[in-house]
Amino acid sequence: MNRYVRSAAEAKPFPEAAHQALEDSQLRRNVRNATNIIQAKRNAMVAEMPDWEDLRNAGHAIKTHTLKYLDLYLEDFERNVTKAGGQVHWARNAEEANGIITEIIGDHAGDEVIKVKTMTSHETHLNTYLEEHGITPHETDLADLIVQLGNDSGSHIVVPALHINRVQIREIFERRMPLAEIGMDSLSDDPQQLAETARRYLRQKFLGVKIGVSGANFAVADAGAVVIVESEGNARMCVTLPDVLITLVGIEKLVPTFQDLEVFLQTLARSATGERMNPYTSIWTGVTAGDGPQEFHVVLLDNGRTGVLADSERRETLNCIRCGACLNVCPVYHHTGGHAYGSVYQGPIGAILTPQLENLQHARTLPFASSLCGACYDVCPVKINIPEILISLRGEIARSQQNSLAGRLHPENIAMHAMALVFSSSGLLNFSEALARIAQRPFVRKGVINHLPGPLSGWTATRDLMPLARQSFRQWWSKNRRASDQ
Ligand code: SF4
Repeated sequence: MNRYVRSAAEAKPFPEAAHQALEDSQLRRNVRNATNIIQAKRNAMVAEMPDWEDLRNAGHAIKTHTLKYLDLYLEDFERNVTKAGGQVHWARNAEEANGIITEIIGDHAGDEVIKVKTMTSHETHLNTYLEEHGITPHETDLADLIVQLGNDSGSHIVVPALHINRVQIREIFERRMPLAEIGMDSLSDDPQQLAETARRYLRQKFLGVKIGVSGANFAVADAGAVVIVESEGNARMCVTLPDVLITLVGIEKLVPTFQDLEVFLQTLARSATGERMNPYTSIWTGVTAGDGPQEFHVVLLDNGRTGVLADSERRETLNCIRCGACLNVCPVYHHTGGHAYGSVYQGPIGAILTPQLENLQHARTLPFASSLCGACYDVCPVKINIPEILISLRGEIARSQQNSLAGRLHPENIAMHAMALVFSSSGLLNFSEALARIAQRPFVRKGVINHLPGPLSGWTATRDLMPLARQSFRQWWSKNRRASDQ
């Protein structure tokens, strides 16, 4: 199956997809190796910043302020792009965005585009849409190119090909690239040779294709500018060489002023790739005669973002600067990799963003793909309280399930209501504990419970349970307090 063009509606519920992923030990090895390396580099880079917490607070404050006044900053941005000679288009959803981009390409009789920083366009399934309209998209970010040529989908928001090792990359290149034509007759697994092969392949595209489609890391309202940070230089080629440049940006990427970049350019590179600075930071606006693209379009995408914005409790989800740090520390992501999330946004940020953008069945399973350990919150450079949002989403999903008869009669729902009843009365709690102490006796072996029967067996499938203590804390407390009172 072509995972690259998979529609979100085809994605499986997370538990099912995770089960499948767990059977792939090569995938787990690739994910573990890559995330461990990135995480170690990130930790070293953060440790050398004495004002790291201040930067996190500043990033959070800038984003919170921007989202509060987003309507004003968006208008400001449009005004300034237009003043510089660009054109701004507004897209309410994926279909509108894809339609606008395809129409612009059609106006120039284009049948190929080069693309870079394309996560937002993956959200809108632009590549599939373009192909259906006879236009060939060429990804130019190296990882995105590998994923595209492998008919695969990205598994990490910063390193989309993180699940693929270099042997697999060589195989993909041998299968999909015209190696003789680019002077690479035989390939090895050597990273330098693989990079050189990609370079020659992409050089042809950069020089031949006249229309570029990019995403952006930030859009700056007061400058009417868009910003891409990257490691390879391919984005810079992609946004400077074509005659026409179309930039697709989610409306949450806005920052008010050029000066605000000072904060994010320090935190993004350190959090994303463990570098002090990104090797390339490209900032562009409008049109300059005889220099760069002579037509510049920005498509501002909503696609569910204003819905997230309207929810004051979960709005900070939109603070995300897509650094990927929360994925690298997540124990669930480590085990399942990114494909199990069935979304362009994986890991903890995917678990809170996707269910708010898509009302699909699989998306509603994602808030449960977390141990709530809080590691994601600790590393997030814009201080998004991911665990709190996960709990809020879980609550909403549980409440909506209780609206149906099947949901009300679900054993888990019945068990939770019974627990609520027991915990609301000390007499009932004492009685239940006494009953449970008797009921557990046949299952206690060598001080632990390692097997429970029937529907309870899930609790002991992968771990031992401690039996209830002979005496509860409350019994101990009342006995000891009485003794000390005397
Ligand atoms: S939620 Fe925070 S840590 Fe995760 S990708 Fe977004 S900015 Fe980075």
